[in-house]
Amino acid sequence: MVYDNILQAMGNTPLIRLNHMVTDDQARVLVKFEGLNVGGSIKTRTAYNMIREAEKRGLIREDTIIVEPTSGNQGIGLALVGAVRGYKTRIIMPDSVSEERRKLIAHYGAEVILIHDAGNIGKCIEECLETALKMAQEDPRVYVPQQFDNPANPQIHRDQTAVEILEQVDSPIDGFCSGIGTGGTITGIGEVLKGKNPHMTIWAVEPEHAAILSGGSIGTHLQMGIGDGVIPSILNQKIYDDICIITDDEAIDTARALASQEGIMCGISSGTNVAAALRLAKVLGPGKTVVTVLPDTAERYFSTPLFQE
Ligand code: PMP
Repeated sequence: MVYDNILQAMGNTPLIRLNHMVTDDQARVLVKFEGLNVGGSIKTRTAYNMIREAEKRGLIREDTIIVEPTSGNQGIGLALVGAVRGYKTRIIMPDSVSEERRKLIAHYGAEVILIHDAGNIGKCIEECLETALKMAQEDPRVYVPQQFDNPANPQIHRDQTAVEILEQVDSPIDGFCSGIGTGGTITGIGEVLKGKNPHMTIWAVEPEHAAILSGGSIGTHLQMGIGDGVIPSILNQKIYDDICIITDDEAIDTARALASQEGIMCGISSGTNVAAALRLAKVLGPGKTVVTVLPDTAERYFSTPLFQE
């Protein structure tokens, strides 16, 4: 089979059972490895869907410039989609995100604008958004998808990611957990899985220093892509039953264990999700099934503490 372009190869990522990290007193843990997706992350799916919806609605034309504030992977996804579809893309991001992400975006031919993060990622992301919206006011060619508010973001997880999971799992799914950046993943997948099994348990996962759904405050943390310090409008706050808080050390140790014990090279927020999934697996116990996602690949974290001694 020949694909017409790389976007057609998107999705259908593998679901993998963890072996060495799970003990006999736990549920089995299955991880959907989005690091193997086109573009190396789960966010290619949302980038594609937001642009496709905007095309359908006539919101973008040939000369459109896609401008998006993002802490990384959404920018990589949009730069990739922009390259395939022929749109200019400009990504506005905090200077605290990993160097690899900036380089990847530029490598796809997009422009990168950095905004200084003075230790408050939420405030910095707000500034990125303000900069993007100002550009849209000043130039009618600019289209800002606004992933935190765009319904096409959770929708692709209802239509695609969740459907793949249901096709892949051979038993009822008893537990699901996910960290929250825009909330697209937990909302879209969570709604479909819970629709299928209303008795299941869903956990939202927050970094210790960005636990705002739990009433905490936002500080600096290493779990890039989640805990951005905002409660997004697209997040369905009724979809999760509980909130699980994970420290930076737990996230990094778990991401390292995924590589060294399971052979899975994934990013820091994948460590976050699996640390929470392992706890949920203990609560639910043997015979049950817990699913989580690994949002991206480890290769974009070489310059971060994930790869430091
Ligand atoms: N992990 C990483 C590495 C991400 O880039 C993102 C997207 N911001 C997430 C997790 C969270 O996904 P979502 O935006 O769907 O909540």
